[in-house]
Amino acid sequence: MNPINAPLPRQFLRKLRRVVGRRNLLTEPHQLYAHAYDATNKIYQPQAVVRITEREQVSKVLRLATEYGIPVVPRGAGSGFSGGSLPAKGGVVLLLDRLKRILEISPERRESVVEPGVITVELQQAVEEQGLFYPPDPASLKFCTLGGNYAENASGPRCVSYGVTADWVKSALVALPSGEVIDTAEDPCLTALFAASEGTLGVALELRLHLIDKPPASATLRARFPSMVAAAKAVSAIIAAGLTPAKLEFMDAETLRRVAEYRNEEPPLPNEAVLLIELDGTADSVDGQIPRVEQICQQEEAFEVLHATDAVGQERLWELRRASSGAIAGLKPLKVNEDVVVPIGRLPEIVATIDGLRTELDLLIPVFGHAGDGNLHVNIMCDPADKSEMTRVDEALDRLFTAVIDLGGTLSGEHGVGLSKQPFIERELSPAVIALSRRIKQRFDPVGILNPGKQLPTLEK
Ligand SMILES: Cc1cc2nc3c(=O)[nH]c(=O)nc-3n(C[C@H](O)[C@H](O)[C@H](O)COP(=O)(O)OP(=O)(O)OC[C@H]3O[C@@H](n4cnc5c(N)ncnc54)[C@H](O)[C@@H]3O)c2cc1C
Repeated sequence: MNPINAPLPRQFLRKLRRVVGRRNLLTEPHQLYAHAYDATNKIYQPQAVVRITEREQVSKVLRLATEYGIPVVPRGAGSGFSGGSLPAKGGVVLLLDRLKRILEISPERRESVVEPGVITVELQQAVEEQGLFYPPDPASLKFCTLGGNYAENASGPRCVSYGVTADWVKSALVALPSGEVIDTAEDPCLTALFAASEGTLGVALELRLHLIDKPPASATLRARFPSMVAAAKAVSAIIAAGLTPAKLEFMDAETLRRVAEYRNEEPPLPNEAVLLIELDGTADSVDGQIPRVEQICQQEEAFEVLHATDAVGQERLWELRRASSGAIAGLKPLKVNEDVVVPIGRLPEIVATIDGLRTELDLLIPVFGHAGDGNLHVNIMCDPADKSEMTRVDEALDRLFTAVIDLGGTLSGEHGVGLSKQPFIERELSPAVIALSRRIKQRFDPVGILNPGKQLPTLEK
């Protein structure tokens, strides 16, 4: 491999320029800096950026990189929360956002074929115009790409009933580090293997996605609870009752307080928690489920349950949740956003752990997320310039991750391992699984050029 601090070989750059054209090989400092970040607080500057305009270029770039031992880091929109698109070992960022054609939408086959740089919401809107539905809905859907969603196995509020991105990818065309292109339709196990591989095994060039009919009716309920424990119990009760909400989101008291301040509204009760529940299906099934959900919430101490079945009313109920990120964004310079998951029945325990971290470590930690699948967004608000606070943040993360593993959970529900969770991955995966993953990576990428330094613990300690 090219040593991390060594300049890229001139001959390599010359050949790269020949592949993508002069205009699409970016090496000016400002161009490199513009691709040195994602949604984490980390900055890793690439040595070159290649803007891919035709998919055939990807194989050629990968072949060259393998020949010269140069790291290549695929990048969609760069919206990741775990550093996946950052060139941790230098090398070339492979910019895929220009491959953005929706190649086919087939109502007959209920599928769509897309290039990896298509923005998620653009596919959703295009299929909905034809009465079809692509459910995966990361909150970043207005700017993230479908290639990035596949590589991170992105999820979102709807995933409680519809599943995650991998459940909607039928097959993919993938360029391997050797430059060969494979169609995973030949072996569906490969489709699953590339999902969540975070650009470490291959580069997705085309995705064949599964679609369904758009559900004709929906309803939204918003329930207020006197405590997070009561809300967590309601989540378990709703799932245990066999109801399958399309979305089941929660907000804790800290988040509600900040949203109330932000929107200039009455503050919530001191320990209040809110659940937002969306039902969808036929009009009859939705109408039938509303009173059952209301009843369960009331049995679990909800003191207010509102519902709406029209688009405007539903949006009004969702406004509270949609305001969460904006309301907390300015509280501190940095948001350390962890997406831990615990089994639904253990939600009250993890909530108690987070309460303990807040008080014992004196940290501001608003929590909200996808309660229906036990996925919590634990947002530790902090200031990187405050050394003492950052030491407490490190301790909070250590204690949070330990609690999550002890409760039978997982460190990342949707944001991926990347660089952020890599130091902790050995707590979750056994040495045997890590060794096997290393062997798989070695088979796909013998020289180790694709997104090196991610996911698996580094061997040099
Ligand atoms: C405000 C905000 C809200 C978010 N909400 C959610 C959420 O609700 N749910 C969720 O899951 N995530 C969420 N995210 C995280 C992020 O948007 C997702 O991980 C998304 O899938 C990343 O897509 P991207 O195009 O930005 O990929 P990038 O960040 O560019 O890349 C992510 C990873 O995918 C790899 N990659 C990208 N394209 C390809 C390709 N074609 N082939 C192979 N590898 C590739 C990269 O190497 C990297 O490892 C959020 C982020 C932000 C900033």
